[in-house]
Amino acid sequence: MVTRDAEIRRAAFAWLGDQAELHGDVLPRDVLAAGFQYEGERVPLLGPQGIFKPRVLELPISITTVSGGPYSDSLDPGGLISYKYRGTDPNHVDNRGLRELMRRRIPLVYFYGLARSKYLGLWPSMVVGDRSETLTFTVAVDDATLADKLLLPNGDRVAAPDDGAEIRRGYVTTVARRRIHQQAFRERVISAYRSQCACCRLKHEPLLDAAHIIPDSDPDGEPRVSNGIALCKLHHAAFDKYFISVTPDYVVEIRPDVLTETDGPMLKHGLQGMHGLRLQLPVDSTKRPDRELLARRHARFQQQAAR
Ligand SMILES: [Zn+2]
Repeated sequence: MVTRDAEIRRAAFAWLGDQAELHGDVLPRDVLAAGFQYEGERVPLLGPQGIFKPRVLELPISITTVSGGPYSDSLDPGGLISYKYRGTDPNHVDNRGLRELMRRRIPLVYFYGLARSKYLGLWPSMVVGDRSETLTFTVAVDDATLADKLLLPNGDRVAAPDDGAEIRRGYVTTVARRRIHQQAFRERVISAYRSQCACCRLKHEPLLDAAHIIPDSDPDGEPRVSNGIALCKLHHAAFDKYFISVTPDYVVEIRPDVLTETDGPMLKHGLQGMHGLRLQLPVDSTKRPDRELLARRHARFQQQAAR
């Protein structure tokens, strides 16, 4: 017999997968707070508190961290995620709920809050440690393809220990943390540019990216907005491949050989038409591209163009 808890969690994971297809990996708060219907009852996935249990369940379905908030230290240097207790009482009902999930090895969703009330959801996540001395739980993200397996048909029984789980979860969590950093950077850059391409002003967010001026190879580095530019897909690729550049004075330049070609409208309007335009900059001057980084990048562009 499949327990109601396992069934609802399974439905929640499936619903989140569908939402990610519609909206992309980063989901708006109102969608998550509204949730979905299960046998006529609403199952919200996010509430006002970090540890959230919808009315239809006995145990929490999600935990949430907000970027830059009081829990922004949540990425544990050891590789897994540290999650603060609710308050300082280890026996608060929310803390007891997470402990019970840990004991019964029941997965939940870890939401990481980015800018503008948007959340990256990571599931199935497992509570794997409880450190009362620091009032934190340790959370690991597991492989999404194993979600069904982790939800036992009989949720009252404690799952058997899973050999190799520790290594697998360490790896999946590391990858998840990299995704968090990338998405956090993207959201902050796109928000600084008021959701438009700095080059052509296209305003469709699904077609926008946060381009790095200097590639950031540090997987754990939270890159600065001043090392980014919001660009549409075309201009991002053109910037990365040195078809276009931006001078330290924020003027767009097209590679000279591309400027003299003859072809259809994409070349003519999409690339050549951008030559000499001034970049659309963030209002907040601290978020504008760092001129020194642009100078370095532009020197590379000139070298490439001279070849
Ligand atoms: Zn563009």
